[in-house]
Amino acid sequence: MSDRPVAVLTGASRGIGEAIALRLAEEGWNLTLISRSIDKASALLESLSRPEDHLLLAADVSLFSEAERCVSESMKRFGRLDALINNAGITKDNLLIRMSEEEWSSVLSVNLQGAFNFVRHALPVMVRQRRGRIVNIGSIVGLMGGVGQINYSASKAGLVGLTKSLAREYGSKGITANLVAPGFIETAMTDVLSEERKKEYLSGIPLRRFGTPEDIAGVVSFLLSPEASYVTGDVINVSGGLYM
Ligand code: NDP
Repeated sequence: MSDRPVAVLTGASRGIGEAIALRLAEEGWNLTLISRSIDKASALLESLSRPEDHLLLAADVSLFSEAERCVSESMKRFGRLDALINNAGITKDNLLIRMSEEEWSSVLSVNLQGAFNFVRHALPVMVRQRRGRIVNIGSIVGLMGGVGQINYSASKAGLVGLTKSLAREYGSKGITANLVAPGFIETAMTDVLSEERKKEYLSGIPLRRFGTPEDIAGVVSFLLSPEASYVTGDVINVSGGLYM
């Protein structure tokens, strides 16, 4: 069994997931890194200080059986599971009046069903250990709504309910569950927005800058640290004040 703490991280290949992986690896975690494509994630793995300490898996989080395989392979490799970070997420923005069933269901499948799939398989291990930290990456639009993002904001609002229910059901087993709600973070996900839309967002941010993936990684690191052992069922906005 690994003598270092082990975290399963979804959506690890770029953006916020990549920053979380770099931060946790630096802090001495063994990581199981999950994304659909393996090329970018392989490059990330090689950039970590001890690549051999981590496990890379290609999987689609929206599939229940894939989540089961990931947790099981992670357990086979490391023999313990201290933290789960549900970070994988997608957007398929459209106004409701034009939104297709596919745009709705694919976003719900990855963002909400994906988190359920991993929690469902990680939880029995954590209950057995009587120890575990779960961090879900939501979004401020799950709290305030967003134009053209009915599917995305519904998925992220769903994660708030999932997180709080988890915290209530499994607090007595030594498991905490929290949600980090990023605002506008500079990644591939927000790169596609028009300059006009970006300007609009920026004018609403009291700190007058967009967030970085590292801003989110720092808060995730805190939630996995001993200092956060009494924090559960919480939603932490990391948005430069865009939502408060
Ligand atoms: P990116 O698009 O940069 O990265 C998304 C990651 O998720 C990639 O590693 C991608 O890898 C992975 N992923 C997507 N779909 C799946 C899937 N079905 N199965 C497995 N992995 C998948 O996004 P960000 O880093 O910006 O976002 C990370 C999280 O933060 C998301 O949950 C997002 O909703 C949330 N967030 C981001 C904000 C922002 O401003 N950037 C704001 C608020 C929340 P691959 O494509 O290879 O599968």
